[in-house]
Amino acid sequence: MSTVVQKYGGTSVSTIDKIKFIAKLLAKRKKAGDNLVVVVSAMGNTTDKLIELANNVSTNPSKRELDMLLSTGEQITSALLAMTLKDIGYDAIALTGFQAGIKTEDKHTRASILDIEINKVKNHLKEDKIVIVAGFQGIDKNGNITTLGRGGSDTTAVALAAKLNCPCEIYTDVEGIYGVDPKIYPNAKKLDYISYDEMLEMASLGAKVIETRAVELASKYKVPIYIALNTGSVSGTYIKELDESMEEKVITGLTTSDDDLMVTINNVLYDIKNICYIFNRLAEMDINIDMISQTAPIYGYVNISFTAPKDSKNLILKLVDELKAKMKDIEIDIQENITKISVVGLGMRTQSGVAAKLFKIFSDNNIQFKQVTTSEIRISYTINTKDKEKAVFKIAEEFNI
Ligand code: ASP
Ligand code: MG
Repeated sequence: MSTVVQKYGGTSVSTIDKIKFIAKLLAKRKKAGDNLVVVVSAMGNTTDKLIELANNVSTNPSKRELDMLLSTGEQITSALLAMTLKDIGYDAIALTGFQAGIKTEDKHTRASILDIEINKVKNHLKEDKIVIVAGFQGIDKNGNITTLGRGGSDTTAVALAAKLNCPCEIYTDVEGIYGVDPKIYPNAKKLDYISYDEMLEMASLGAKVIETRAVELASKYKVPIYIALNTGSVSGTYIKELDESMEEKVITGLTTSDDDLMVTINNVLYDIKNICYIFNRLAEMDINIDMISQTAPIYGYVNISFTAPKDSKNLILKLVDELKAKMKDIEIDIQENITKISVVGLGMRTQSGVAAKLFKIFSDNNIQFKQVTTSEIRISYTINTKDKEKAVFKIAEEFNI
């Protein structure tokens, strides 16, 4: 008998009918002989509604009590699902994070899992029960209920799978992971598999199918993840350790992000002390910068560009005023209509010429780029947002993604 952890997200359990439907799927799987641990999210947008309730009674809700409140969302789903299963003749037990032995740090609303007393779950499995665990929650060393941060049920599921040494299946409202967002490129192909490293590069760049923390955990403990549509009717995507066949693809995916703006500081006196000062102040102001570029010095001056989240614009303007008082000659240019486009692929590690192909696509299609950065398996460009669609189509066609 093999064990599997499954996770059903909020949209998969948003109504009673959907919970009944999932119960039938679980019954079928149990009958086929699998041991099931099932992690559930809160029904639909319950978590948002609970946060709204808290905001109605307090402008700054106490975080400890917020965790008390938010953890109830997942408890409702787990109890209802267990009841439904019993009703159709399958023994099940609903557990809170605490009852499932999930221990976290004592940090409210964004706790990390420290360990799981997995025997609690194992004992219920031995009794041949389907174990339903409320996702997104645990207990700290002082016995307080904690939550793991938004989207945290993915992490609950992967952590349980790591402890049980079994695979993790995540069921959601999309068919799996696509090489490109089908909303931008309708011909996008669903991936049969993707490596942890590629998924991490893509997740942090905006492919929001699975919580990044969960992929990091899966990668660390080598938990194979399968992401698929909650009906189980079409095949999904495996996120797993690299094997030889996976390395063949040069480009696995392409992501875009419109969340950043590009700041250029012109006429900075070319002295490492000045450059160091600017980036130190950015760090002190907690502005999370990304792509950095600098022109060659001309008459002792350089221009420095970097990207930063759009919502840090006010902070950047404040910094600019401060810099102008210190460095008289500087001029600032902020461009808001920029898009970051990234291509990701393990094959880049061994195959050359990917950047050259991309430059050719940009040149043939008259797409100007402003900055380029690379990692071992990723190349990112900043381009004007007006060129985004053209760039995505041309790259996706060329690399068949
Ligand atoms: N219910 C929580 C949220 O909406 C956790 C989760 O669904 O993963 O963020
Ligand atoms: Mg989610």
